[in-house]
Amino acid sequence: MSMRIDYTRPSITELEVEYAMDAARNGWGRKCYDYIYKFEDLFRDHIGVKYAVATSSCTGAYHLGLAALGIGEGDEVILADSNWIATVAPVIHLRAKPIFVDIDPVSWCICPKAVEKAITPKTRAILAVHLYGNPCEMGKLLSIGQKYQIPVIEDAAEAVGSMYRGQRVGGIGEFGVYSFHGTKTMTCGEGGMLVTNNQHIYEKAMVLNNHGRGLNEKKQFWSESIGYKYKISNIQAAIGCAQIERVDELVSRKIEILTNYKELFKDISELRLNEEQSGNVNGAWMVNAEFSKQSGVTRGKAINSLKENGIDGRVFFYPLSSMDMFEDRKENTNAWDISGRSVNLPSYHDMTLNDQQLVADIIKKIFNT
Ligand SMILES: *Cc1c(COP(=O)(O)O)cnc(C)c1O
Repeated sequence: MSMRIDYTRPSITELEVEYAMDAARNGWGRKCYDYIYKFEDLFRDHIGVKYAVATSSCTGAYHLGLAALGIGEGDEVILADSNWIATVAPVIHLRAKPIFVDIDPVSWCICPKAVEKAITPKTRAILAVHLYGNPCEMGKLLSIGQKYQIPVIEDAAEAVGSMYRGQRVGGIGEFGVYSFHGTKTMTCGEGGMLVTNNQHIYEKAMVLNNHGRGLNEKKQFWSESIGYKYKISNIQAAIGCAQIERVDELVSRKIEILTNYKELFKDISELRLNEEQSGNVNGAWMVNAEFSKQSGVTRGKAINSLKENGIDGRVFFYPLSSMDMFEDRKENTNAWDISGRSVNLPSYHDMTLNDQQLVADIIKKIFNT
């Protein structure tokens, strides 16, 4: 069925079209990396870090980062049970073991207390995913990391525009990754970025992303190790350049959409939207509505009502541990419980206030049926 209101879609202007056409017309031969280098420079400056590597996806950036950290067989990586599958796949590809812990019921992000409890002598990384744009409690995670000498890494795929105490998320941990998939706040169609202040991780990721060819290798076609290839194309990067030039506008529009929904739902105490903790900025990639336990409203009921009215709603991430590849961890009660009574609401840049009103009216009606 074709939807009248999509749940997410990018904001594309003449600028993106112009840069993409220029890349398609002229960006070949000696110029075939120009937009890629420009994109990396602009993004690096935006986040405020030393190094950035553009990639074909966030999943790829994350795989490179974990490999550059030396994550391998038998190592344990702690992450929240409520997550997109991309946050665990590279851990498995590297033969490491994911340790799923519960989320905080307010932020929906990884619970620092649960992280500390899950640490063992095999723990090699703590993964902070800023879910739906909500910033993780980086201060607490970093002190745990420091205490046990374990790097904290950030998946900021959903958090362009989000800030934790004045710092852009993704640029705080050992390394951070971003996604420019078509559903995200900023897009290249497909694309990603790895950022870090750690020169070793940067250089290692560069080598790994070039099939293991050394940075200063003079010998042609010579690899020093088996690597990967998660490169972005110049045409995709051209679109990314336009988007990063517009990033403030893209993020403020997302924040405006969240603010509008908050206003529309302000009298409904049985429903809670993304939390904005004071001192932080929520980039508001995706608006999620969590229905209270007492309300009895389920994700299925909400999704169906939206669908019947031509509106595309999406489920809150299922607990990864509920999938067949893993063992259930039902003790992660928040992760297991919140996904059953949450729904992602349409929140793309170009939706009108009228569209938002329509969505809100349908959601409000669910409480009375
Ligand atoms: C979208 C997303 C990814 C993956 O991004 P791709 O660019 O599709 O690889 C990873 N983590 C989170 C939290 C995401 O939302």
